[in-house]
Order: sequence, then C-alpha cells, then structure tokens
Amino acid sequence: MFDKILIANRGEIALRILRACQEMGIKTVTVYSQADAEAKYVKLSDESVCIGPAASNLSYLNIPAIISAAEVTDAQAIHPGYGFLSENADFAERVEKSGFTFIGPKAETIRLMGDKVSAKEAMRKAGVPCVPGSDGALSNDPKEIMDAAKKVGYPIIIKASGGGGGRGMRVVHTDAALLNAVSMTKNEAQAAFGNPTVYMEKFLEKPRHVEFQILADNYKNAVHLWDRDCSLQRRHQKIIEEAPAPGIPDRLREKIGIRCAEACKKIGYRGAGTFEFLYENGEFFFIEMNTRLQVEHTVTEMITGLDLVQEQIKIAYGEKLSLRQRDVEQRGHAIECRINAEDPYSFVPSPGVITRLHLPGGPGVRIDTHAYGGYKVPSHYDSMIGKLITYGKTREQAIARMKIALSEIVIDGIKTNVPLHRDLMDDLSYQAGGVSIHYLEKKLGIKS
Ligand code: ADP
Repeated sequence: MFDKILIANRGEIALRILRACQEMGIKTVTVYSQADAEAKYVKLSDESVCIGPAASNLSYLNIPAIISAAEVTDAQAIHPGYGFLSENADFAERVEKSGFTFIGPKAETIRLMGDKVSAKEAMRKAGVPCVPGSDGALSNDPKEIMDAAKKVGYPIIIKASGGGGGRGMRVVHTDAALLNAVSMTKNEAQAAFGNPTVYMEKFLEKPRHVEFQILADNYKNAVHLWDRDCSLQRRHQKIIEEAPAPGIPDRLREKIGIRCAEACKKIGYRGAGTFEFLYENGEFFFIEMNTRLQVEHTVTEMITGLDLVQEQIKIAYGEKLSLRQRDVEQRGHAIECRINAEDPYSFVPSPGVITRLHLPGGPGVRIDTHAYGGYKVPSHYDSMIGKLITYGKTREQAIARMKIALSEIVIDGIKTNVPLHRDLMDDLSYQAGGVSIHYLEKKLGIKS
C-alpha cells in the first residue's frame, strides 16, 4: 500500500480523506493556504506545507506548488478531493508525469467526460439513456439549428459543452427566441470556459436529480453502489441528498445501475464516479458524469457500509475490486444536510468566527466537519462548513433522527442554513418523497 498520500484540498473533505488514510496506516501530507493555517486537520496530518496565499488560484489551484509539496515530502500519491483540481485533466496528467499516482481516473477519461458533447456520445454508445437532443454540437447554420429544435420539440435548453457549476445554460420556448439564445450561450461559453461549443437538449420541466455511484478498477471490473436523490437544490447547487432515491421501482434502479457499471467497463473507467440523471415520468436521462468523489458520497457509505475514500485509494494503488455486484449491500436510508455558512433564505455567505459550536450525536448520526468552537470560516472559499448525516432503518427514521439532530445543533457567531433544513424536514412534500429539482426554489419564492 502507499506509504504517504498528499491531500490536495481543504475543509471537511481534507479531514475526511485524512481519517481514511489514518485508518489504513497511510501517512498524510496536507497542503494549506495562508487562510487555512489554523485548520484542525492541518495539525492532525503527519506533515503540512503552505502552498500560497488565500486566493484559490494562488494556492489550491496552484499546480506547481502542489507538485513540489509532494516532492519535498516524498508523498507517493495525491488525492484531489472534490472541487478545485479534482476534475482537471491537466492536473491529473502533471501528477502522473511527475511520478506520483493520481487518485482518480486517467487524464484522458477526465477530459472525455469534462466535454459534455463527447461524454453524452460515449454514454449513448455504451447504452446509457440520455436526454433527447441535438446528438452532438450545434452547427452555425441557422436552418440546421431550427431543424434540430423542431425535431426535439420546445421547450429546449441550450447548454455549453464545457460548462459546469450550473452555468452556461439557457431555456428556449419559441422559434423566435432560438437563434439569439444560441449565439448568446455561445458567447458566454467562450468567455467562461474558453470553448464556444453548445448543444441542445429537451428541457424537462419537473425532473428529479437522481445519480448513481460507481466504483471501477484498472482491470475492467465495475460495480454500482446504487442511487442518490439530490433534487433539493438552490441555484443548481445541492443542499440535501439521500440514498436510496425514494419511490423508484427496484427493477428500474437495478437496470440503470448495471448500465452505468457496464458503461464504465466500456470506457475503461477507473476509480469512483457518478452518473447524474434527470428522472421524470418513470424514465432516466443521463446529463453528465462526475469523475471524482462527491460531497454526498456519505449517504452511499451509510447504506452500503463501504468507505469510498478507502476504495478509491485501493483502486489507485492497483488493487482489484474486491466487491462483486451481489456483495454490494443496500440497507436502510440515509440523509445528508449540507451545513453552509450563509443566510438560510437569501444564501448570502456569512463568513466569520464560530463563537460557540455544539454538535449533535446519538444513534445513526454522523457529522463530517472541520469546524470547531473558535474556528474562523474564511471568506475565500465555498460556504459549506460541514455535513450532517443521519441513518435509519427506514426513511421515516432517518428524517426523525435528522429533526432531532437539527434541534440539538448550535452554531453561533455566523449565520447558517440550519433553519432552512429544519423547515425542510417538516415539509410535507419532502416527507412524502420525490420532489422535483425546482421544489425548493418555488417554496422559497413563496416565502420571500
Ligand atoms: P453542470 O455541469 O453545470 O452542473 P448539468 O448538465 O449537470 O450542468 O446541469 C445542471 C442542472 O441544470 C441540472 O441539475 C438541472 O437542474 C438543470 N438541467 C440541465 N439539463 C436539463 C434539461 N435537459 N432539462 C431540465 N433541466 C436541466
């Protein structure tokens, strides 16, 4: 096994990866920006290296600084976590060329999946159901664009092939608005992602976001670890996730999960990954693949009993998957609430010092956070400061435990979205299960 791993990330996920390494007897190196010098996990790691000032582009996105930190500490592998450089194919390539192991897929796979037009094409060929659309990039020819829209049928959505983070998308309802929308999305895509390629999809009006977790090794073995529902979103960002997705027929979940695992074998996928789908009227439609660990991996861990970070490390080291599909358990129900330092209803970030922190506990409660009483939430990064996860034999029990945990938690000194989570756990539609991706914003629209 690796002797030492460098964790190229910060916050709760750095601590999560550190714990996985410690349990496996692997030494850890953390890297930190000047804003994170006091972080608890930095002190818990065997070694740590400051890689630059607070601004991410000078620290957590600073590839040469990270590689040289691995060199001076003799780390053998680099875990990118999520966000930052985790889906940067150039980083993966540089890591491997410098003689380290990248804990993730091959650079070429990251590149393939990072381009949504090529990702969809690969998935279609591999038998994964996709959202109907232009089947490739849109041309510049107005007639061809109009014809494609006619074929797909309004409403449609124009999406940037290089897009991410919910940006570079535009919904179109009429022929009259089409050509202008295409050229505006192209311009935006060029400016934001350096790639003007756009494509067209049917716009689904009330879908749920349901995704499948997979694990694949270097030897074309792949399994799926079932599904997660991440429909509760604001500004296309998830805030509550759960596993399994409520109300989906078992046979369908099994069928799609197996398709995803088969697709991994076909494209030579390696590591942990997620197939994201929109689910509407009993059908799954692939939208994109994430080639990394996700924030919400925890709910899958709770229902399968697996440690996904350790599985990633074992795969990266070259071990064969020890799991076969029939060994993947699925027991009970898990829910995750992302705890963000922000105003619960306007989502305006609320960095600052946590003056008092009381964390809940008890049966079926898991907390992944790097925060502590006296911790200063920096203003430079994502507002998520932790994740509260509950597990129950049933969904009702997981909700009941989440309500208790949310009633116990105290985070003083900054604003958090805990009040929103309390509201949502009491919401009858959420309790019934299966709300669409627009539910939360509609509910908040009524509220504000
Ligand atoms: P990103 O990489 O920016 O997250 P995605 O392709 O995953 O882009 O889409 C982000 C979100 O945009 C989805 O979760 C969904 O809310 C919405 N969306 C994307 N495609 C469609 C579609 N065809 N119909 C309806 N909503 C869509």
